Amino acid sequence: MAQPADLTRLTAHDLATAVAAGEVSAVEVAQAHLDRISAVDEAVHAFLHVDTDGALAAARAVDAARAAGERLGPLAGVPLGLKDVLTMQGVPTTCGSRILEGWRPAYDATVTRRLKESGVVILGKTNMDEFAMGSSTEHSAYGPTHNPWDLERIPGGSGGGSAAAVAAFEAPLAIGTDTGGSIRQPAAVTGTVGVKPTYGGVSRYGLVALASSLDQAGPCARTVLDAALLHEVIGGHDPHDSTSIDAPVPPVVEAARRADVRGLRVGVVRELSGAGYQVGVQQRFDEAVALLEELGAEVVEVSCPHFTYALAAYYLILPSECSSNLARFDGIRYGLRAGDDGVRSVEEVMSTTRAAGFGDEAIRRIILGTYALSAGYYDAYYGSAQKVRTLITGDFRAAFEQADVLVSPTAPTTAFRLGEKLADPLAMYLNDVATIPANLAGIPGLSLPVGLAPEDGLPVGLQVMAPVLADDRLYRVGAALETALLDRWGRPLLEEAPSL
Ligand code: GLN
Repeated sequence: MAQPADLTRLTAHDLATAVAAGEVSAVEVAQAHLDRISAVDEAVHAFLHVDTDGALAAARAVDAARAAGERLGPLAGVPLGLKDVLTMQGVPTTCGSRILEGWRPAYDATVTRRLKESGVVILGKTNMDEFAMGSSTEHSAYGPTHNPWDLERIPGGSGGGSAAAVAAFEAPLAIGTDTGGSIRQPAAVTGTVGVKPTYGGVSRYGLVALASSLDQAGPCARTVLDAALLHEVIGGHDPHDSTSIDAPVPPVVEAARRADVRGLRVGVVRELSGAGYQVGVQQRFDEAVALLEELGAEVVEVSCPHFTYALAAYYLILPSECSSNLARFDGIRYGLRAGDDGVRSVEEVMSTTRAAGFGDEAIRRIILGTYALSAGYYDAYYGSAQKVRTLITGDFRAAFEQADVLVSPTAPTTAFRLGEKLADPLAMYLNDVATIPANLAGIPGLSLPVGLAPEDGLPVGLQVMAPVLADDRLYRVGAALETALLDRWGRPLLEEAPSL
């Protein structure tokens, strides 16, 4: 029988099995993780809000259901951290911004509702870059999250809180959102697994919008199977989201269990390597590709020539959509209101509130997007960016004729130091160079750890991409590679992380 002290080290799958078998109660599991949060989160700062009472109540409900003889879901009793960009009824949702301070949503996001219905125990809300803009979680208005591998380094972003919570054993699972890489890049730099599902595969209802045509929620976990189990719980059609795909969730759990790449054609994207990629990142990536070949995959090189323009197109499309989406934060409807002295006009209250509530990066993008959408510049900037988006989708289509999946390093470097890129927005944006194309095309992507970079001993992530609705292929490749690497290393990579 698992001892409470060990519970935070178990996978989600093992925890759910132990709870279902009655070897441990969901309350014990929740308490062990709450204790872990109390012990380490002052240093890591993965959570913005810990919902102790709610988590224990949810765990008690799982224990009661089991005692009543009900069949439990595959993740019942498993604790999870929810990125603070998803609404949860009655629980603060800030999106990492001062402008939403004090706001308690009146409703659950569909993702939240599905988690609750399957007996997942939501521990609290995780830290993030303001409105999911960033690659380091340093743009959170509530202070940065620290990477459990080295507290002086960034945990990636925007979902650094979710990735760090999983890496620091504060939760076996977390939910992230990925608009340009915010699930995959934090997974890469924390040595965890992160998946951006096909656009429309997971409901956006209750996900506070950054860029509606790019945003997608997905799983963060320590193993590929755990990510697949979570994907299955949160995925599927939702009539509340008009862009939700009306199709069954791809067979992700089955694929993770199959873990076999024999005969699969793996395409290495030429444009996502070489110059700009850290030597040790490239080295671990090349070794992982060689391993895939040893496992029976057929490796080919593919070229996606328009990827060179992906970053530029994204940083026009995203600010354009975000300037429109963020217009709703006006001091009238949600959270903060500043300057309401009974004398100022409503316009003055709105602008005072927005100036006080938004941080530098949010303001930068609102200005950029408003400019790109303005009458005289719309065609030159936003219109051109949309054309590039179509060309990138075409590159993927051609590449997927030659290969079943595509691979690249997830991020060009390992975790950089806190503060290192904060003053240089362009250097920060470059972290997304390998993850952005998938968002522009709406295809799914997964990042998994493939080793430590020799020069700094920090985790390196490999990205797998697949065609729309072929999310199962990500898990097949991810699980095969994970199994082979575990054999090679003898223990999970996270065991190498300095214990906090
Ligand atoms: N880092 C990217 C950005 O700043 C991605 C954000 C995201 O995926 N939410 O826009």
